[in-house]
Amino acid sequence: MKVVLQNLTKVFPSRDKKSGADVVAVSDFTLEIPDGKLIGLLGPSGCGKSTTLYMISGLQKPTGGKIFFGDDDVTELSTENRGIGLVFQNYALYPHMTVLQNILFPLQNLKGADKLSKDEMLKRAHEAAQLVQIDELMERKPSELSGGQQQRVAIARALVKMPRVLLLDEPLSNLDARLRLQTREEIRRIQKETKITTVFVTHDQEEAMSISDMIVVMKLGVVQQTGKPQEVYDDPVNLFVAKFLGTPPINVLEGRVEGGKVYIGDEAVLEISGVEDKEVYIGIRPEGFELDDNGPLTCELVNVEVMGRDVSVVSKHPASLNPSIRSIIDADNKVDLGAGVVKYRVKPHKFFLFDKTTEERIRYEVK
Ligand code: ADP
Ligand code: MG
Repeated sequence: MKVVLQNLTKVFPSRDKKSGADVVAVSDFTLEIPDGKLIGLLGPSGCGKSTTLYMISGLQKPTGGKIFFGDDDVTELSTENRGIGLVFQNYALYPHMTVLQNILFPLQNLKGADKLSKDEMLKRAHEAAQLVQIDELMERKPSELSGGQQQRVAIARALVKMPRVLLLDEPLSNLDARLRLQTREEIRRIQKETKITTVFVTHDQEEAMSISDMIVVMKLGVVQQTGKPQEVYDDPVNLFVAKFLGTPPINVLEGRVEGGKVYIGDEAVLEISGVEDKEVYIGIRPEGFELDDNGPLTCELVNVEVMGRDVSVVSKHPASLNPSIRSIIDADNKVDLGAGVVKYRVKPHKFFLFDKTTEERIRYEVK
């Protein structure tokens, strides 16, 4: 099922009588989600992810804009009639019911033409349980399950109605690190098997990057950038997006463009064309540095951390906005800690310029 969001907007009236300012939780959000894809809706806390998801689900009414499932305008449709499956961060299972009863529950509420026979309900519940691999646990109560198992029950409960669209709001946040990793792979597998169009909300960029066909990065209710995870990482439109994606994060430095050269301090680190002289922010991905004794960028060497295949070199530079600069280089390269300094060349495709006022990306050509 294709899902289309058209100029979706949600304004909450102010509760604070004094300041009186309304909260624009989501502003003019337009997106087409292709059938059968998993979209990662990504951004810091408070940027409007849940509000967007609740509008798609029908739990919240948009202030403006429209929502389409396929060709149907569902903007005015109630949640029950949208054919969605919802999974929240806190699994919200009924504690007094067994796993089976929890999964059956949405089916027992079907009315009229949708009503199912008892056998059909059981069959569907077992299929959903098999899909999330909890069919051994059907007679247990939620309190007898681990967090990961409870979340699987919640997913089975969302799937049992065979939803047209699956909506997941930070579904992994309550799980420990290892389980989070495992469960996100499970969610991806289930989504691929069922081919249900899915919106996955998270503030965790790594999570979104790893399982999404497409990510949407939001800030303060406004979509910043949409695209395949790797494309957005490789080609961020502004400093916010560049900083939000990537571990370790991008290194940001102050610099300037002067006479076709990019300067950090008084070192010209790259020759470019197509940009007028101005002050800029420079973003360099950790993998964008190359060790070179004759390289133009000189940093104060702090530490070298070996991480298996790679080496992380920690250094300092007065122009850096991060407390330290982190580069990732091949473990074959030797760094002499005694030297006190480290010299780099930069890789142009990992080296971004941003306007100092608007923080928008400045495109350049490499000379
Ligand atoms: P996220 O899920 O990205 O953390 P939300 O969608 O929950 O963000 O919230 C977006 C903004 O809207 C926040 O500033 C939040 O305080 C505000 N907001 C959310 N729900 C309500 C509400 N029911 N009433 C007033 N403001 C709200
Ligand atoms: Mg939220």
